[in-house]
Amino acid sequence: MQKDTAIFSLINKELERQRRGLELIASENFTSLQVMQAMGSVLTNKYAEGYPGRRYYGGCEIVDQTEQLAIDRLKAVFNIEYANVQPHSGAQANAAVMLAILQPGDAILGLDLSMGGHLTHGSAVNFSGKIYKPHFYGVTKEEGIIDYEMLEAKAREVKPKLIICGASAYSRDIDYARIRKVADEVGAFVLADIAHPAGLIAKGLLSYPFDHCHIVTSTTHKTLRGPRGGVIMMKKDVENPFGLKDIKGNLRMMSNLMDMAVFPGTQGGPLEHVIAAKAIAFGEILTDEFTTYAHQVKSNAQTMAAAFTNRGYNIISGGTDNHLMLIDLRNKNISGKKAEQVLQLADITANKNMVPYDDKSAFVTSGIRFGVAAITTRGLNEEHMENVVDLIDRSLMNADNETELAAIRKKVNELMSAFNLYPELG
Ligand SMILES: *Cc1c(COP(=O)(O)O)cnc(C)c1O
Repeated sequence: MQKDTAIFSLINKELERQRRGLELIASENFTSLQVMQAMGSVLTNKYAEGYPGRRYYGGCEIVDQTEQLAIDRLKAVFNIEYANVQPHSGAQANAAVMLAILQPGDAILGLDLSMGGHLTHGSAVNFSGKIYKPHFYGVTKEEGIIDYEMLEAKAREVKPKLIICGASAYSRDIDYARIRKVADEVGAFVLADIAHPAGLIAKGLLSYPFDHCHIVTSTTHKTLRGPRGGVIMMKKDVENPFGLKDIKGNLRMMSNLMDMAVFPGTQGGPLEHVIAAKAIAFGEILTDEFTTYAHQVKSNAQTMAAAFTNRGYNIISGGTDNHLMLIDLRNKNISGKKAEQVLQLADITANKNMVPYDDKSAFVTSGIRFGVAAITTRGLNEEHMENVVDLIDRSLMNADNETELAAIRKKVNELMSAFNLYPELG
């Protein structure tokens, strides 16, 4: 069989696109070459339904070891007692958690999608909003930070079985202890979905959710800089009864529930090639190099936010504690949709995003979201952030000037050519 040139030439084009552009999508990153090598390995051929040491297939003695390494390293990364590394994605991890602890029709309480939440936190178009009874809290109109009083009032009113915190477009830290307090009062589980800021949490740069939240889920491909995938994690909950009639707070019982909910509950065979890549990424996170990276991400985000503010941009909540920021473009007279399109012409990739209390639809939006996890991996530091913001600002201020946008694109390509991406790939 000949090499499939149709596909491989497209993969090469994608490599070139990634190399020449400014990647500011907050949920993206660049994995290491060894992470990608594991994903393209013979492990993809192996069926391994079950868990290390208890599989439904023969020949699992090697993948048992790669999966166990992934589990052990993830436990070390977050200093926790339970990890399931099989979820195919962040959405799958959340689906499994809900299957494990909820019954169809149970009330859940999450951050509204239009306020920065995620589809899997109860959106009407998602399984979480169809199978369960979703309720939402938001952010305050004045400050753009989580409205904890509203969260508490809703929790007391609807008595959810699960409160979900964590977000996709929220730039501030989260008060997990406060959420746990009201959860205990109403007999709810707390799930922290740290899909976005996990890499910063791993290095202690944001609050530690594991002492307060019964269950924590994450993706592995955003700030954790691994392959696309999900994980479910728990720390011993000091044998604290959850106040729920049917489930006692017992890590062993909860672990079994979670494992069963991933397989056979929501998935079949695990992606052992991806799990090996997760193990590699977790190993990288345990190094000092990643500590430096996480600090650089936080510092770059703060420098970028300050540069935007200096140019009169309105950042929701006034700044950032993590790797991303959400900008309300209404005072700049450009929609999120148009901004995304214009930046694309300058080889700057970002995504339009609703802002809290948005008056435009999800297809148009008033906002744009920027994250620095990927450009920090490329090697950009504080000194480059001013320049990056200048390129973005000039693009948005010349939204209908194609000549100027082409000139900016050239500057972007020049800037990025100084930061090698996968030089080994030629
Ligand atoms: C990205 C994200 C997810 C989903 O991850 P996928 O791997 O795309 O399924 C879940 N929750 C939050 C908060 C996210 O930001």
